[in-house]
Amino acid sequence: MGNTEILVVGGGIVGAGIAQAAAAAGYQVTLWERATLGGATSANSSKLIHGGLRYLESGQISLVKSCLEQRKALLKLAPDLVQAVPFYIPVYQDSRRGAVTIAAGLSLYAMLAELEPHGRFQLLPKSQWATLQGLSLQGLKHVFQYWDGKTHDSQLTRAVAASAGALGANILEGVSCDAIYQGARVCQVSGHDGAGNPVECRASLVINACGPWVNGLLERVTPKLVGLPIDWVQGSHLLLDIEPPAGVLYLESHLDERVVFVIPWEGKTLLGTTETVLSAEPVAPTVTPAEEDYLLAIYGHYFTDWQESALRKLIVQRFCGVRVLPKAMGSAFGRSRETIIHSSGSHPGIISVYGGKLTEYRVTAQQVLTQIRQQLGTREAIADVDRLTLPPAEDRLN
Ligand SMILES: Cc1cc2nc3c(=O)[nH]c(=O)nc-3n(C[C@H](O)[C@H](O)[C@H](O)COP(=O)(O)OP(=O)(O)OC[C@H]3O[C@@H](n4cnc5c(N)ncnc54)[C@H](O)[C@@H]3O)c2cc1C
Repeated sequence: MGNTEILVVGGGIVGAGIAQAAAAAGYQVTLWERATLGGATSANSSKLIHGGLRYLESGQISLVKSCLEQRKALLKLAPDLVQAVPFYIPVYQDSRRGAVTIAAGLSLYAMLAELEPHGRFQLLPKSQWATLQGLSLQGLKHVFQYWDGKTHDSQLTRAVAASAGALGANILEGVSCDAIYQGARVCQVSGHDGAGNPVECRASLVINACGPWVNGLLERVTPKLVGLPIDWVQGSHLLLDIEPPAGVLYLESHLDERVVFVIPWEGKTLLGTTETVLSAEPVAPTVTPAEEDYLLAIYGHYFTDWQESALRKLIVQRFCGVRVLPKAMGSAFGRSRETIIHSSGSHPGIISVYGGKLTEYRVTAQQVLTQIRQQLGTREAIADVDRLTLPPAEDRLN
């Protein structure tokens, strides 16, 4: 049986970020990912490293500020993986959010970004509206342009995992965690590898970074440990074989209160996302016909040259990811996106992470690190993650 101080279960952006931060802080770290690093939720996001302009509407000011700080940090630490891109918000005669509201929101966004260069915004001159690739001009009053970030989500995750590996963490793909026994001083953990061989490990701390499967892992804990009540909210994307816009379009849905993005992605147009509450933990989430209809209807509403039937033929890929949100009534759209770090006095060796954002993975990792230090004491750090640039493409895991 192998020994490690910290076993991270789950190799999405959250697990990779925790492994990197803990290894940099001088701990002995092992990570088990049952499938592919960055292959689940962290491969199926909207790929934005953003402050989250729309969270201002639900009053999540501190979340937006923190995300804007992370955007700034990631633009510096991972310049070949995170780039600033222009975002465009069209305002029509009948838009729910008028020009004054948008300008106020963007001004606050700029202030929260501490007026750094990527905080600035402008009204796009009418002469440039044609660059928005066929966006309907009927009733169009203004187009605001501001800046946010874009990334390659799974590559970012793999780069962070590679960085953890370079700091000495033992990163294992294809190893599934099957059972955790919380003992008096350590956790005994068992699992299996891709060939079905048993794998065992003794860890002072287990970090449960299983994303939507966070409570699924807790069901494997002895003595019994009950997880937090959560909703699983599926978000779907469609990749259309249409020449992409020059930047990201931020479109108000005409069907509900939501916002949908049109994102340039690998030479094509990515459209997303939806919010479909699932009734149970996801097994193999798939895009539903209703989600497809919803996204195409919104695209067709703004790009009136396209018939829905023609658009449907241009779908080259459908993918979805599942968020964990605290269980609550009402629409998922307005619910808090804050990450919850959960531990229980009865199981001091297990820390679980609920929710979070790609943009905020470094913040989540530091929050978990604070709890690690409380449990295991401080170690001599071997690197400072605030100065650690992510490895260039040729040095990353494939
Ligand atoms: C549709 C959608 C769009 C989003 N868009 C954005 C965005 O644009 N910007 C942004 O900042 N955030 C975005 N988010 C949020 C962000 O993508 C997620 O918060 C983040 O990717 C979650 O990462 P994670 O590591 O928690 O989960 P995951 O990436 O799902 O990783 C969990 C891992 O745990 C592994 N695992 C599970 N059980 C076990 C086990 N028993 N043993 C071993 N391994 C196990 C899984 O295989 C998986 O790889 C979006 C989320 C969704 C759903």
